[in-house]
Amino acid sequence: MNSQIALIQNIDALLPQTQCGLCGHRDGCLPYAKSIAEGEEANKCVPGGQPVADALAALLKRPQLLAEESVWPIQSDGRPQRMKAIIREDECIGCTKCISACPVDAIIGSGKLMHSILTDLCTGCELCIPPCPVDCIDLIEDDHVIPNETLRIREQNDLRNRYYSHIQREEQRRINRKGPVVRANIDTALFAQFSAQDDRVPDILIAQIEAKPVVQLNAQSTIELAKLRTQIKKLEKQLSVRDDAKKRLLLDELNQQLNACQGI
Ligand code: SF4
Ligand code: SF4
Ligand code: SF4
Repeated sequence: MNSQIALIQNIDALLPQTQCGLCGHRDGCLPYAKSIAEGEEANKCVPGGQPVADALAALLKRPQLLAEESVWPIQSDGRPQRMKAIIREDECIGCTKCISACPVDAIIGSGKLMHSILTDLCTGCELCIPPCPVDCIDLIEDDHVIPNETLRIREQNDLRNRYYSHIQREEQRRINRKGPVVRANIDTALFAQFSAQDDRVPDILIAQIEAKPVVQLNAQSTIELAKLRTQIKKLEKQLSVRDDAKKRLLLDELNQQLNACQGI
């Protein structure tokens, strides 16, 4: 393994694997680890607090820096208070947006059904809160005993594994375009590169999107497209007032025609 990759892995091993993006790297701890190895300051991990900033300074033989401040009070281990998210389940409309937002797959539920958070897995990263359209997710203090060093490393390894599995699923979703994409764009190539070199994390395979044939539009097809769009808009307006099975069928057909014309 080359020494730069080994260095990035050693930095990543010290990061909490919350994947919260508060360091400014919205797609998680590994991109921040890479950037630290390339010279970025190593004091920006908010959930890691001063202990992580100091451990990184020691690893990199750099001067100690004051850690980026958290909004939460400091616990006895020097890190910011651990938090957990909970869903007010009677208010949840089952839209599933929080599921794709959770980097460690700590939320269960399916379309139009109430969702729940597996509190033992939740890291309190808060990423599920902004996408929730009905604002029914709260953060509370995590009252579990603060883990010792061995347990913390085990927990970090588990979170890293869960994040890699999550990325693989999001990669598949990107290809199949199913469901909303509410997270930051993840640098899947970077994660794939590291997963290939580390037996402890699941491999990430990058799917290739087949190039679509380029459709040359002439004047006639431009007119056809405009006609189709007008018909679609009209039907959508009618359906928003009253549902009608026949019109819905027609709308599907017109959308298919439109996609075919556009080469989608
Ligand atoms: S835990 Fe959050 S702030 Fe810390 S390195 Fe990971 S993504 Fe960045
Ligand atoms: S449930 Fe919410 S707060 Fe907890 S880990 Fe998932 S996204 Fe983060
Ligand atoms: S985003 Fe909010 S409303 Fe939608 S499923 Fe999650 S908790 Fe329920």
